[in-house]
Amino acid sequence: MSELAAIIDETIKALEEMKRAGVTHVEVSREALDALAIDGPPTSADSRPSPREVTQPEPELAATEADAKKCTKCSELSRCRHSVVFGVGDPHAGLMFIGEAPGADEDAQGEPFVGRAGQLLTKIIEAMGYKRSDVYITNILKCRPPQNRTPLPDEVTNCLPYVLSQIELIQPKVIVALGATALRALLDIQLGITKMRGRWYTFRDIPIMPTFHPAYLLRNPAAKREVWDDMKAVLDKLGRKPPAKG
Ligand code: URA
Repeated sequence: MSELAAIIDETIKALEEMKRAGVTHVEVSREALDALAIDGPPTSADSRPSPREVTQPEPELAATEADAKKCTKCSELSRCRHSVVFGVGDPHAGLMFIGEAPGADEDAQGEPFVGRAGQLLTKIIEAMGYKRSDVYITNILKCRPPQNRTPLPDEVTNCLPYVLSQIELIQPKVIVALGATALRALLDIQLGITKMRGRWYTFRDIPIMPTFHPAYLLRNPAAKREVWDDMKAVLDKLGRKPPAKG
């Protein structure tokens, strides 16, 4: 990265901090504007920022969501769906949860993880000291497979570019993969979640923690203890502590 690019990067970060803190305007001197104009604005498509450099992901996320909403790559899923369930939460979230695919409730409401498994996920998120709106929640598939069957390999391949864009644009500090489908889609490994959970892996330089899917926890409540251990490791990675009880 050139020195100028590094300065611009730092400036953007500082401006974002200020924006989050509620600042709506900044004054820029004529000299500063003239100095910035020396190199001129980017002119070609090649000099457009790559998703990694995008610091305001909202417009690109909205464009990706609009593409997903028109998607008909999986003929069965696109015929059966009521909604394309893209994702929900903070586009600047440090923590991203990725599940398998929408179920009936999610398909009806257009939002991921709102059914019984979703309510349990919300409790886990709150136990970690977050609100649902503080994190970003999505699935590998954006359309519900009929009868909630496991996604087919072709469906995962077709839908993967959407979740990859979400990851690239949001740039979470940590990803939690909920269940084997999410884990296998991202890491391309065939081991079961029981073997993989509780350990750190890396996906495009982002630490990823696999854990049991909340739907599994509904059937096997004893596994909640392991999920909580995994979430404590996630909090630790994010430099946070679980909220004090009481
Ligand atoms: N299960 C998932 O994997 N995702 C949802 O959104 C709901 C249930």
